[in-house]
Amino acid sequence: MQFTPEKYSIPDEPMKPFIDPDEILNYLSKATSTKEKVQEIIAKSLSKKRLNLEEVATLINTNEPELIEEIKNGARNLKKNIYGNRIVLFAPLYIGNKCSNNCTYCGFRSSNFAATRMTLDDKQIFEEIESLEDSGQKRLILVYGEHEQYSPEFIANSVRVAYSVKKGNGEIRRVNINAAPLEIEGFKIIKEAGIGTFQIFQETYFQEAYKTYHIRGRKADFNYRLTSLDRAQEAGIDDVGIGALFGLYDWRFDVMALVRHTNHLEACYNVGPHTISFPRIKDASMLNLGSKYFVNDDDFTKLIAILRLAVPYTGMILTAREPAHLRNEILQYGVSQIDGGTKIELGSYTKTDEKNQDLHKGQFRINDDRSLNEIIDELIEQKMLPSFCTSCYRMGRTGEHFMEFSIPGFIKRFCTPNAILTLAEYLCDYAPQQTADKGWALIEKELHALDDEKIKQTIRERLELIKHGKRDIYF
Ligand code: SAM
Ligand code: SF4
Repeated sequence: MQFTPEKYSIPDEPMKPFIDPDEILNYLSKATSTKEKVQEIIAKSLSKKRLNLEEVATLINTNEPELIEEIKNGARNLKKNIYGNRIVLFAPLYIGNKCSNNCTYCGFRSSNFAATRMTLDDKQIFEEIESLEDSGQKRLILVYGEHEQYSPEFIANSVRVAYSVKKGNGEIRRVNINAAPLEIEGFKIIKEAGIGTFQIFQETYFQEAYKTYHIRGRKADFNYRLTSLDRAQEAGIDDVGIGALFGLYDWRFDVMALVRHTNHLEACYNVGPHTISFPRIKDASMLNLGSKYFVNDDDFTKLIAILRLAVPYTGMILTAREPAHLRNEILQYGVSQIDGGTKIELGSYTKTDEKNQDLHKGQFRINDDRSLNEIIDELIEQKMLPSFCTSCYRMGRTGEHFMEFSIPGFIKRFCTPNAILTLAEYLCDYAPQQTADKGWALIEKELHALDDEKIKQTIRERLELIKHGKRDIYF
């Protein structure tokens, strides 16, 4: 992957802030969009070159409907040609919602006395995970409020409990984390427990706006949060996830800043973020927030397509905050991971007959409460390949940011075969007959499309092993 960085007003140094708002605003005010420029930028991205801030600003400033279509088509082609049709599935598990911060947009904020506070103990975590395994989940993200109780040791313990639960053929093979920023020592303790990605969202990168949402508590320190994933890197966590909460400030600024953050991590650690998240504000318990910066569906779709083109190698996560119809549409513009069967009320996975309902028990309202199987079934219908693959991090293939993207044949050699094998496990162990039939037909089609006969043969042999009860085979 070729990337020629621009010169920034604040040079990138590890653990030093890197956002200059004037610089970003300047790019946005100067960039003009013409048909030729937009097409050139899309072509650059399709040839696997990262976009610089000026180019991203040009795409952002594109308002002609036909050109926006070209951007979306570019993102669709990039996804199709480079990533194929795999969608990785995971589930969030909220461990505790006590919080000493008071983020005005969040149902867990300390001043919200309507919130029902709860922290799962080991037994409850165990039971929640048994339920998750019973539905076929293999990958989790554990989520925590920011509270003194949720120390690095506490978080590491919950990760270990998660990995220890084995029910039937069920097991959790990758645990990611979304929790408050830590010191380097804290990150090290959590790394020891064997985590995948550590996610921290900056919420908004525009400090003046950030201040108004985070008035007190640890999170009020903008730069401490901004540099948190540098500390994670220093602690040896080379798999980090960035994100912005869209609706807090002008989306154009935050898209630029996400790309700037990516450049910073590349410049300092030679590895960009493993994932980018782009949650939009949803209703929450006692939410009272101005809607000035809320992002409509059209802009949301556009910004996702722009991010796909700007950072072609990075995983992109679209959560159940968004409704099913929008997720189905947006998937094609470059999303690589979605959650399925999501429940965000504390302790709710064991209550198998209840859907999310009580806003005071969760962080916000989700808008897609389809079961994991419903999602898998619909993905298969759409000719997408559901995947529970956890191979790369277990094989030590982490860090190198352009791995999937730039090693020739990587997707065909590893990703597609592992998606097929993990889907096959799901079909054997958890799928109702109707989904299983469709799933096996899709697997046949995928095998047919592979051109390497040797890989095809090996996958076929492994599928036989899976049908005979062997589990957790990967490339
Ligand atoms: N407490 C930790 C922190 O703030 O870093 C963990 C993150 S929080 C449990 C997960 C993310 O949810 C936040 O970073 C924020 O982006 C998002 N979030 C908070 N309130 C939200 C809302 N009302 N709608 C959608 N997403 C929200
Ligand atoms: Fe607490 Fe995180 Fe919610 Fe802020 S976003 S109130 S830190 S849980």
